[in-house]
Amino acid sequence: MPPTSALPNSPRSTSSQSKDASTCGRIRARPGSGVVSGALFPSTYSEAAAALEAHPSAVVVAGGTDVMVAVNDGSRQVDRWISLRRVQHADHFEVDGDSVLVGAGTTFEQILGPRGAALPALAEAARTVGGPQIRAAATLGGNLATASPAGDSLPALACYDTEIQIVGATHDRWVPLTDFLIGPGQTLLGPGEVIAALRLSSTSGAQHFAKLGTRNAMVISVCSLAGRLDADAGIARLAIGSASATVRRAVDAETLLLDGAPPDDVGAAVAEASSPIDDHRASAAYRRHALAVLGSRITRWLRNSDHG
Ligand SMILES: Cc1cc2nc3c(=O)[nH]c(=O)nc-3n(C[C@H](O)[C@H](O)[C@H](O)COP(=O)(O)OP(=O)(O)OC[C@H]3O[C@@H](n4cnc5c(N)ncnc54)[C@H](O)[C@@H]3O)c2cc1C
Repeated sequence: MPPTSALPNSPRSTSSQSKDASTCGRIRARPGSGVVSGALFPSTYSEAAAALEAHPSAVVVAGGTDVMVAVNDGSRQVDRWISLRRVQHADHFEVDGDSVLVGAGTTFEQILGPRGAALPALAEAARTVGGPQIRAAATLGGNLATASPAGDSLPALACYDTEIQIVGATHDRWVPLTDFLIGPGQTLLGPGEVIAALRLSSTSGAQHFAKLGTRNAMVISVCSLAGRLDADAGIARLAIGSASATVRRAVDAETLLLDGAPPDDVGAAVAEASSPIDDHRASAAYRRHALAVLGSRITRWLRNSDHG
């Protein structure tokens, strides 16, 4: 499938390029709110990118579960929104053999539904995100753009060798997830660019996600680990969350997982691959210890799983 035709609303598949950004969607003024003076409602991602190019200080909003926190606590001022809520096919979902194309506007709640059957590790991660209200609104695109080291979708996406479709007003490009995430809060998105879709290139085999938090629900992860094993295809993936600046593959541990090494050895290699920090949620030493435990546990789950 050629990249530019990945989504029905990608730049070359629409006539939106000729539209002026100000004509996409309605502008809703909310006089007196003190925060929002207007909002644009593009109907394609390329229109959204054109709107962003025309209004560089505008803020893109999808589910609003990250950006509204900053607005409400006063740390972010917004004079114009570019809402993605009316982008057509934003929650596109298409399975093509081993590869899955997912629209950036797909919510965690949707991943928990029938779609999750194709992506068990991502579904397990989705189940741990916030509560039902958050999962109903929060999108994969928002989780990616926020680029928090603790973003719960990111380890599972790394296990699927995910590529991100970045769309501008007149161009699009695909980049590997590991290149897309530059650091905490930093991505490859340039001015006038938005995320349109994710291509999960390889999804076969047994797969699991495990997250450690200070309680069982509604919690930012202390550390997390996603794993995938398709021994017949020679594929092993282990990706660490919340224990380095961005999601990180534990490559040596993956080799041990594939070679049948003892689970504790795989776990030790996972911990070795991390570079956690001390913060208010946990010490670096605790995170390393926890990752060794998660690595050992996920190794057992993957080897005993029905999916494998
Ligand atoms: C109570 C609560 C609990 C939470 N729990 C978790 C949790 O357990 N795990 C977790 O990972 N996260 C959690 N979050 C954070 C948040 O829900 C997720 O990061 C979510 O995926 C953000 O998606 P969104 O659509 O709401 O993003 P928004 O808030 O709409 O946007 C977030 C950022 O991404 C940008 N953006 C959004 N979509 C695009 C796009 N398509 N292209 C370019 N830029 C875009 C926005 O401009 C903004 O900067 C929680 C948040 C809250 C408030």
